[in-house]
Amino acid sequence: MKALVVQSLDKYSVEEVTLDPPQAGEVKIKMAATGVCHSDLSVINGTLPLPLPLVVGHEGAGVVEEVGPGVIGIEKGDHVVLSFVPVCGECFHCNQKEPQFCRVGAPNGRMLDGTARVKQDGNDLGVMQFLGCMAEYAVVPAISCVKIAKDIPLDKAALVGCGVMTGVGAAINTAGVTPGSTVAVYGCGGVGLSIIQGARLAGADRIIALDLADNKLEMARSFGATDVVNTSKDNGPMACKELTDGHGVDYAFEAVGIPQLMLETNASARRGGNVIIVGVGKLTDQVPFNALMLSMEGKRVMGSFYGDTNPQHDFPMLLSLYQRGKLNLDDMVTNTYSISEAPQAIEDMIKGVNARGVILY
Ligand SMILES: [Zn+2]
Ligand SMILES: [Zn+2]
Repeated sequence: MKALVVQSLDKYSVEEVTLDPPQAGEVKIKMAATGVCHSDLSVINGTLPLPLPLVVGHEGAGVVEEVGPGVIGIEKGDHVVLSFVPVCGECFHCNQKEPQFCRVGAPNGRMLDGTARVKQDGNDLGVMQFLGCMAEYAVVPAISCVKIAKDIPLDKAALVGCGVMTGVGAAINTAGVTPGSTVAVYGCGGVGLSIIQGARLAGADRIIALDLADNKLEMARSFGATDVVNTSKDNGPMACKELTDGHGVDYAFEAVGIPQLMLETNASARRGGNVIIVGVGKLTDQVPFNALMLSMEGKRVMGSFYGDTNPQHDFPMLLSLYQRGKLNLDDMVTNTYSISEAPQAIEDMIKGVNARGVILY
């Protein structure tokens, strides 16, 4: 099969690889669609350090082709969205109702039993997040699969596996945006646009989108932003205050991963407001919050990982909202590619061309 393989840092290409059959607790998926996400790039450039060579891809949907021993509740022919965190339902975090932090396995490129299914010339290849779904087929843990209705288009369903869940979840699960509230979102890529949609779904009154690019801001409007600020021309925190009678917003989100922007996000929230960091910065970066103001302003500064999702509940919920026309996934997909064009899809993401590029098989 064809897969996008990262051979070494910053070197990636579509290669022919082989795939072993699913072992105990695993299923083989015929991929239908894979979203191209910034975290794939983070593996390619080493921001997310994983042993290479490795098959990227962690935002996907497809059809179950084969079921390994001991798998219950998933059958050949089922349609599934892949969760980039397998959820065991039994560990410390699962019992804390925090399945996004499930400890069943550390993503080190291997399957949960420590071995590999993808091979090239007899050598093991790693996979990203137990998935490696930027490939025609993927063998994945059954506990990474969320079954969905068969009438949902798989190219839209794939987006729920990472970007849309991360953004909508940050608004409704992490922040708990309330009806009538004011919201600011820094960064209007796939995740930022999904935060905007989450805030709209939650009934926010004012949603301020902030970005450097006018085309992204136009998109933000179509996804529910009520106001847009181009931060290459205007000061973000000042604009947020002007639009909220001088107070600052109730909920300020950062969806890029840049320390300076995290500080501006913090400065955009009102006293006693909420600051939600969704963007993934570099391991070596620090954010110098003002030591006096952190206490005096009484803001809640929180990180949000994977939209604090419970995948088995949230993925079908988001797709139900999509089917009823309340969550816009159609306009999220701004370009599609074949697996052979996957390198182009990565390059387009680096250039910021797409809300989401999706690989179709
Ligand atoms: Zn992702
Ligand atoms: Zn668990």
